[in-house]
Amino acid sequence: KYYTSKEIRTKYLEFFTEKEHKVISDYSVIPENDPTVLFTTAGMQPLVPYLLGEKHPRGARIANVQRCIRTGDIEEVGDDTHATFFEMLGNWSLGDYFKEESINWSWEFLTSAKWLDIPKEKLYFTVFEGDNDAPRDEESYSLWRSLGVAEDHLFFMPKSENWWGPAGSTGPCGPDTEMFYDTGKPKCSEACDPSCSCGKYVEIWNNVFMEYSKDENGLFSPLSQKNVDTGMGLERILIALNGGTIYDTDLFKDIVEQTRKLSRKNLFGENEEKSLKIIADHLRTSTIIIGDRQGVTPSNTDQGYVIRRLIRRAIRHANLLEIPTGSITKICELVINQYGEVYPELKENETKIIHEVLQEEQKFNKTIQQGMKEFQKMLDKLDSKTKEIDGKSAFKLYDTYGFPIELTLELASEKGYEVNVQAYKDYFDEHRKKSQLGAEQKFKGGLADNSIETTRLHTATHLLHESLRRVLGDS
Ligand code: ATP
Ligand code: MG
Ligand code: MG
Ligand code: MG
Repeated sequence: KYYTSKEIRTKYLEFFTEKEHKVISDYSVIPENDPTVLFTTAGMQPLVPYLLGEKHPRGARIANVQRCIRTGDIEEVGDDTHATFFEMLGNWSLGDYFKEESINWSWEFLTSAKWLDIPKEKLYFTVFEGDNDAPRDEESYSLWRSLGVAEDHLFFMPKSENWWGPAGSTGPCGPDTEMFYDTGKPKCSEACDPSCSCGKYVEIWNNVFMEYSKDENGLFSPLSQKNVDTGMGLERILIALNGGTIYDTDLFKDIVEQTRKLSRKNLFGENEEKSLKIIADHLRTSTIIIGDRQGVTPSNTDQGYVIRRLIRRAIRHANLLEIPTGSITKICELVINQYGEVYPELKENETKIIHEVLQEEQKFNKTIQQGMKEFQKMLDKLDSKTKEIDGKSAFKLYDTYGFPIELTLELASEKGYEVNVQAYKDYFDEHRKKSQLGAEQKFKGGLADNSIETTRLHTATHLLHESLRRVLGDS
């Protein structure tokens, strides 16, 4: 049996409706009441006021399917499990049920024959191991065990893996429990377990139990309203059901194949396959963002800059695959058709989406032409004997003229030059370190703790914004 996304969305909402949840429609991917973040990165994000105690008009049990954008995952794109746009299936208890119901229902939905019927042996679970701030989550552990989870399928993990809470600040926090699917790949090492990122274990669902409050002195006390916040990736659960990667799901398959058809290349090696995935992912994300009801268009600031960056990266890879100029919008059309039924605003905004992507393509082509002149000037100044573009020059091309390193590499090789990529990376890291100071120490983990992501995003946006402004002026 091959499961479709439509089937899973329906089943999930049906299941939680049976458990007396009210289904709410999804929110915009551009946060409407929170200017500190650029995108909605988790289903819980728009629900924060209710998690903090405000009464939700639909009651204390809520479920939905939320479109999420995680530009912080952009470097992961091309692996089997991370997309920059994905849908999160979520259910929430706003001071109502807690660990027992939450864990029992997750188990029932995943394993019972009536619902997803995933073999138990394929599932792995993690719970919080405890530390000086909060005790080990024995309750979650016992609940999984009582459902029949074997000891060697259940892991205690530290805060870095199984905790959700505000970064260094005060407020609600608590342990979480995560569910993983074993792809059947061999272990990458003796120590390979669900916290390993090799791809053997795929995280499918995360249940956060907000039960503590952290005060100004860093002390933890029990929270008066205890909440549950869960999120399951739609693309991920399809992998668990059908095998393969996110690109084999109905949410990606046709988009990737369409991209392949548009390419004039005949041979697809590893690099070309990766380009296909990047193009499919980035155009899918751009289409969703431009087509959102809050509508954003490519620009040099904030969300607009993120789309610009996504579209341009997609175009770079489209060039590598010899996809003719003017045809990437065919991919956007497919995304619109595919998602139009679930998210009708995409259909309504079709003309706008296509127009914006086409226009961005034209602008980018112009930028490249200008940058090329600078590139030639630089080559003329370099030592023609060693035929090497040093790290500093490569970084300058990136930083001042907006040249991605792949572009520099490609152009250099056309002229018979090598690029000192390692030295370029050193410059890049040094630069990034300077502008990112402090961000790394911030707390990571949990369902919607995207403090790092957000910081990184703002920093990245700022840096790219600066370099692009130098190239584009104010266009
Ligand atoms: P991972 O560790 O795989 O990066 P995460 O812990 O960052 O996932 P959560 O913040 O817990 O993810 O989000 C809840 C669920 O959303 C995850 O369990 C996963 O199923 C899904 N998910 C998270 N990030 C992505 C992504 N980039 N693409 C697709 N699905 C995702
Ligand atoms: Mg992640
Ligand atoms: Mg995780
Ligand atoms: Mg998680």
